[in-house]
Amino acid sequence: MRSISIFGATGSVGESGFDLLMRAGGPQAYRTVALTGGRNVARLAQMARALQAEIAVTAHEEELPALRDALAGSGVQAAAGTAALIEAAARPADWTLSAIVGSAGLAPGLTALRRGGTLALANKESLVCAGALLHGVAQIGGARILPVDSEHSAIFQSLGAENIENVEHVTITASGGAFRDWPVERLAAATVAEASTHPNWQMGQRITIDSASMFNKAMEVIETHEFFGLSADKIKVLVHPESILHAMVTHKDGGTIAHLGPPDMRHAIGYALNWPHRQPLPLPVLDLAAAGSLNFRQPDENRWPALRLAREVIAAGGAAGTVFNAAKEQALDDFIAGRIAFTEMAPRVEATLDRMAGEPHFGDEPGDLPTVLDWDRASRKASAA
Ligand code: NDP
Repeated sequence: MRSISIFGATGSVGESGFDLLMRAGGPQAYRTVALTGGRNVARLAQMARALQAEIAVTAHEEELPALRDALAGSGVQAAAGTAALIEAAARPADWTLSAIVGSAGLAPGLTALRRGGTLALANKESLVCAGALLHGVAQIGGARILPVDSEHSAIFQSLGAENIENVEHVTITASGGAFRDWPVERLAAATVAEASTHPNWQMGQRITIDSASMFNKAMEVIETHEFFGLSADKIKVLVHPESILHAMVTHKDGGTIAHLGPPDMRHAIGYALNWPHRQPLPLPVLDLAAAGSLNFRQPDENRWPALRLAREVIAAGGAAGTVFNAAKEQALDDFIAGRIAFTEMAPRVEATLDRMAGEPHFGDEPGDLPTVLDWDRASRKASAA
């Protein structure tokens, strides 16, 4: 029986993974090692009971009594805090879903890679802030990283057995988020509630706001570079309001292979769960006649300056990805807390990149977790409103 762990089980991606496991037979089909969450310990305990997990971990120590109560009599161990998350990640599992939001997902992800197995990676922040480190640790641990972000899963599936050397360019699509059709002049007054709704995808609040600002797509451009080793000029973005075509790979002979599917993360998670095989998934199949037409347009970089910043980050290399991710997370915190306007996020991230570029060793790729965390802390401080 295959063993699995889910980090960030109580989030939007974690719930989708849980749903797939339960539909596949739950504890009859998989041995669940660890499930982790944050504040939602009631849901975490429910999931851990349903999958008969060995251990459930909340990231917050003060939530431990509530988690223990909720798990009483279940036989599931309860634990809390950062050290417990790392200990859970070190427990052997064949397949681990990395679905914590933000750079908090990096340390558990690295620990999981160190002990081998497959890391199904939704936590794009890890790759953006420490891509080289992740790949290096995976190589040492004999682990495999599989993409779960829908665009990267789509590239991976469209590539098939082709060599990346034969790729002319890849195209990832963006829905355009909540403000796709707003006049640019209105964006400065956009509220958190308005930015927190997505036209097509049901996702966590942070990634939904990042979709409206295109910081999510900017992160995905960098993630594409880190996953597939493509330079910035080979990674194109198209606005595609229907969110049905997720990515295309254009080969040197001019042939383009696209991946299409309904906007439901269970496709990409299920693909990574069953890879290298394809198993039936309990999901609606694409109906193009019902979709009617698919539309595409070039993104307007005045509206979405984050896309230009992504290309600059790839060109700069070194610690630029770590700085970008931290400055973006801080700007998002500041927007959610009402300290800055929606349109102030991108200039703030750009100013932080400019400021941090003057620091010693900015051009060096961070080679270990403490160095990544140092850059992360310093960049958040430099960026804070
Ligand atoms: P959510 O906000 O819905 O869930 C995040 C999960 O992480 C929850 O389990 C949450 O716990 C937990 N968590 C939050 N803070 C911490 C912390 N400091 N330490 C440990 N755990 C924490 O996020 P999403 O599911 O939307 O996204 C997860 C990741 O997947 C992100 O990196 C996102 O970019 C990526 N992704 C998401 C997609 C989507 O469709 N949602 C699509 C592609 C990628 P709790 O809720 O209990 O507090």
